Amino acid sequence: MLYLSTRGHPDRKHFCDILLEGLAPDGGLYLPERYPHIDDAALTRLRKAYHEQGYAELAFQILSLYIDDIPAADLKRLCEKTYTAEVFGTGEIVPLRHLEDGLWLEALSNGPTLAFKDMAMQLLGNLFEYELGRRGEQLNILGATSGDTGSAAEYAMRGKQGVRVFMTSPHGRMSAFQQAQMFSLQDENIHNLAIEGVFDDCQDIVKAVSNDLDFKRKYKIGTVNSINWARLLAQVVYYFAGYVQATETNDQKVSFTVPSGNFGNVCAGHVARSMGLPIARLVVATNENDVLDEFFRTGVYRVRGSADTHETSSPSMDISKASNFERFVFDLLGRDAARTKALFGDALSTQGRFDLSQDPHFADAATKYGFESGKSTHADRLATIRDTFQRHGVTIDTHTADGVKVAREHRGDASVPMIVLETALPIKFAETIVEALGHAPERPPKFAGIEDLPKRVQVMPADVRQVQAYIERHCQ
Ligand SMILES: *Cc1c(COP(=O)(O)O)cnc(C)c1O
Repeated sequence: MLYLSTRGHPDRKHFCDILLEGLAPDGGLYLPERYPHIDDAALTRLRKAYHEQGYAELAFQILSLYIDDIPAADLKRLCEKTYTAEVFGTGEIVPLRHLEDGLWLEALSNGPTLAFKDMAMQLLGNLFEYELGRRGEQLNILGATSGDTGSAAEYAMRGKQGVRVFMTSPHGRMSAFQQAQMFSLQDENIHNLAIEGVFDDCQDIVKAVSNDLDFKRKYKIGTVNSINWARLLAQVVYYFAGYVQATETNDQKVSFTVPSGNFGNVCAGHVARSMGLPIARLVVATNENDVLDEFFRTGVYRVRGSADTHETSSPSMDISKASNFERFVFDLLGRDAARTKALFGDALSTQGRFDLSQDPHFADAATKYGFESGKSTHADRLATIRDTFQRHGVTIDTHTADGVKVAREHRGDASVPMIVLETALPIKFAETIVEALGHAPERPPKFAGIEDLPKRVQVMPADVRQVQAYIERHCQ
């Protein structure tokens, strides 16, 4: 299997070459040359693999279709090391539970940091360690986080050979729980840099360091952001796991509703559907930052400035543009790389928008690719959390609540189960749960008292030079 760039660069690469890279050299995103097709017999084999051998075997079989430069025995071992009941809390790894008529919740948030990003990041940590070891190389991951991504990256990379993490975050702006999760890590290879500024300052620092090409090369700076193909691929697996739990035979269909920000999670659903998994509809749920809902309703994709990006109570969906969206648009346009480049390389940077409403391909988003969308606000979130608790005794987090709210509006045909992806546990967003329910959510026992643990964090001004100096000092 070879990978190409959505913007038409002539190079074709193998999986391990793009694993450690970010964007393609022409600024595009990597995609496989084609999606392997899962026929009825293959789906039956995957169903059996999950039910009889477990999630790790399902992951191994799906990843094998896309990775031809890691020996099968090694890939299998990496999957088995990643997807364990010990790390993910249950043997099912992503258990499905019934919520109400036609509506199911697939739990993706029982990993170490209690958000779905662990599903992919834990695998990425093991893949990085493996590939860097094979090459005898090192990688220094520099990132910016306002919460979920940074902690998922740190818990995936802690103690790994050949990898260091330098994670910037806005000083004093994450929740006490999120700060405790990250700053209590005592591993030598994990560095928390609390920047005196806001999240945008952290992102600017990461960009400035990445644009300093000499520094980047000398200190082997890399990233683990959501455009990484390996992360997306790891997420494809749980769409299959959700499907085989919700159905008994392959002639049944299911739909998914996905709380969305950067379009990484639901893009994995698009890949699964393109492989032939019987998915009826993929419903994109956004919060007040409704860039994606606007596109699927109108055909206009309009990125927001930072002044138009709302700080909401589902903060991991607070995006101004959806960094994985280019992958879907490339497919939507019949894989026309020149047009994709014109839209994402040119129109977005000059006009901040593009309009496909008059393009015949736009209708395909719904009819051919099954996409629908909806939006949820703070008031919807509170009402949904309250209602789900009162009627079902289930406490859901704020992002999942956006999903449940939108899923209820898109339930459709009752014989097609609607699976809402649960993307975080409520304890991560306790303030809003208290606002909705009047009491705090349950805290998993392993997180008892984490706010009181010793913290390992370096506070520094929003100054690129000082961050670089810190990296230099800690890369000896
Ligand atoms: C990252 C995140 C999302 C958004 O996922 P995307 O892949 O960016 O669309 C939703 N919910 C939670 C809890 C997250 O951490």
